[in-house]
Amino acid sequence: MRSKNIVIAIDGYSSCGKSTLAKALAKKLHFIYIDTGAMYRAVTLYLQRNRINFEDVEKVEQALNDIHLNFHSRDYQSHITLNGEEVSEEIRQMSVSEQVSEVSAIKAVRREMVKQQQRMGKSKHVVMDGRDIGTTVFPDAQIKIFMTADPKIRAERRFKELEGKGEVVTLEEVFENIAHRDYQDTTRKESPLTRADDAIILDNTDLTEEEQLNFILEKIKRFLLENHLE
Ligand code: C5P
Repeated sequence: MRSKNIVIAIDGYSSCGKSTLAKALAKKLHFIYIDTGAMYRAVTLYLQRNRINFEDVEKVEQALNDIHLNFHSRDYQSHITLNGEEVSEEIRQMSVSEQVSEVSAIKAVRREMVKQQQRMGKSKHVVMDGRDIGTTVFPDAQIKIFMTADPKIRAERRFKELEGKGEVVTLEEVFENIAHRDYQDTTRKESPLTRADDAIILDNTDLTEEEQLNFILEKIKRFLLENHLE
């Protein structure tokens, strides 16, 4: 029997399949999936809709008091509501992707999101994906994964996804956006994206979704056995 709650932390670059793997793991293990990127995206959407200047710290802090985010899960797909409104689709649009890294670099925003994420993972078994989960949110997570993949492949995958949703966007724009977010996320002052020393590296450039899942499940199984958690 598992006694303590288990946290699986998945970090990595933009569009390298973190959420696909996280969802598959959550489904297989019956864990709760928490998409922390969706939280930063929803905050960005709120600031955009209300025309709040990102550089006005006071206004941003005020706005954070008016932002209420909630997750609800259907078929292991994570849905997020912003003040009661389902925004899961809208937050994936390029208009949000273009500004989310700027918003997520704001200290007050990070402080609030990290607090909420820590609360969510405190008493349940969770799979959480993002940029700073294994380093800042849950530095004691039992399983840490750091994902990466060839930037060109990542752009192609994201492009197909956006195209499938009917968004008018070019492959070049998607590539630029991914490169830009990677740069901002790795160079920002507040908990930049970096690999935790004890994270398992997963480069999925040439791996299928099934291969990735099996690779990680094997590691998790071994960890649980070695630590008498299963
Ligand atoms: O994961 P996703 O690409 O949806 O995340 C959107 C953005 O949110 C990232 O580019 C990053 O700037 C920010 N983010 C973050 N920390 C997290 C998750 C996401 O800074 N834990």
